[in-house]
Amino acid sequence: MPYAPKRHRAIRSARRQHRSYDKRRGSARQRGYDTAWDKFSAWYRKEHPLCEECVKNDLIIPVDVVDHIIPLAEGGAHCDEENAMSLCWSCHEKKKAREKRAR
Ligand SMILES: [Zn+2]
Repeated sequence: MPYAPKRHRAIRSARRQHRSYDKRRGSARQRGYDTAWDKFSAWYRKEHPLCEECVKNDLIIPVDVVDHIIPLAEGGAHCDEENAMSLCWSCHEKKKAREKRAR
């Protein structure tokens, strides 16, 4: 049997972190994400099922979140494949931290 990394525990704790993260900054709906985004991001996940940052480093990590490359607050397009990317939680957190520093 091929070696399969044990990721389940990590995924569960990432989900827990996400819930408290959402509590701090308001729910997705409160931040302006809507049904159109739900549909778009579900489609995008199917088209891009792996973290696009990790793939650059030859890591195969499933997508946890579809993120805007250019944040909406900075004029990025909303439901646009050109302005979307699949990220794992780790890469998403790093990107958010980078954006915070850039502000
Ligand atoms: Zn990643």
